Amino acid sequence: MIASGQIPRPLDIPGGDAAITSNDVFDLEVLPQHVIIVGAGYIAFEFAHILRRFGCDVTLLVRSRALKPFDRKVVKRLVDETIQIGIDVRYGIEPVDINGDVVTLSDDSTLVGLVLNATGRIPSIERLRLDAAGIESDHGGVLVNEFLQTTNPNVYAAGDVAKSRNPALTPFAGQEGRIAALNLLRNNTRPLPERPAPTVVFTTPPIAKVGLTVDEAKAQGIDYECKDNDLSHFLTYERINDTTAFSRILLSKDGHVLGAHLIGQHAPELINLFSFIIQNNMTHQHVKHLEFAYPTSASDVSFLI
Ligand SMILES: Cc1cc2nc3c(=O)[nH]c(=O)nc-3n(C[C@H](O)[C@H](O)[C@H](O)COP(=O)(O)OP(=O)(O)OC[C@H]3O[C@@H](n4cnc5c(N)ncnc54)[C@H](O)[C@@H]3O)c2cc1C
Repeated sequence: MIASGQIPRPLDIPGGDAAITSNDVFDLEVLPQHVIIVGAGYIAFEFAHILRRFGCDVTLLVRSRALKPFDRKVVKRLVDETIQIGIDVRYGIEPVDINGDVVTLSDDSTLVGLVLNATGRIPSIERLRLDAAGIESDHGGVLVNEFLQTTNPNVYAAGDVAKSRNPALTPFAGQEGRIAALNLLRNNTRPLPERPAPTVVFTTPPIAKVGLTVDEAKAQGIDYECKDNDLSHFLTYERINDTTAFSRILLSKDGHVLGAHLIGQHAPELINLFSFIIQNNMTHQHVKHLEFAYPTSASDVSFLI
């Protein structure tokens, strides 16, 4: 069983080795004065918020779009909040050279600081010599079938290193480990199930998603209704002064939840409820008739869908 995970993608520019990665941040002995974060995924945003709140100056270099898999409106609110707390967000810019603590950017300007490379993660397979065992892989990981079996029938792969349809997240690594082990011992009896994948970016405020985004629904030609709600005036959020809280719920024409997109302090817990609703194929009429404990963020759900 191959379960070697992923490693940070190297920053392929002159001096790129000087950049630290998310693995190194917690080993820093001194808080850097200025951190230049390259990337715009969840690791880039989470560390930008952590370091800014520790008091660092933070510059976030976004090559194209921030947090691409997430809903655009939710991301816009997060980026606004990111700028509001003093993070310098720059679009269409990337570093081209690092020399000591001087970073040259693609617009010929320079910055002085520590570079944090958050440009993504790649499968950790370099030292495994997979070709010697007839195991095929590509940039997305070790190729597997629905039973997590590789192109060598005696070898399985699970977790971030496996190129399955699952996202590279802890709950799915655990699920794949269990399924691959069962198939290994019991001859491919358990195909990988299709499950909603709730995902959170642990910024302050956090954002969360599960299911389809508007872009994905459009691309798949799915007929949907989009329900947007500014939640900041709901008592749940007003009493904690959460001014960013917002929800966007996508419903199918027959009332099933296709996707849920949230920003706000309750988003990380609330997204699990939407995942449960999707997983159990519940309609909004069904959910509206459930009684939730009040006052909790779940008790607002009937107003959101
Ligand atoms: C900064 C950061 C934040 C994250 N936040 C979240 C989050 O909030 N929620 C979430 O769900 N997921 C999060 N993730 C993703 C999550 O960490 C991974 O999805 C999960 O750890 C994958 O588990 P895994 O067992 O496949 O791989 P890993 O946990 O990476 O474990 C792989 C192990 O294999 C070892 N290994 C590698 N190569 C070899 C080799 N040749 N020989 C022997 N051992 C080897 C590695 O040292 C490692 O111990 C985050 C990841 C990062 C980097």
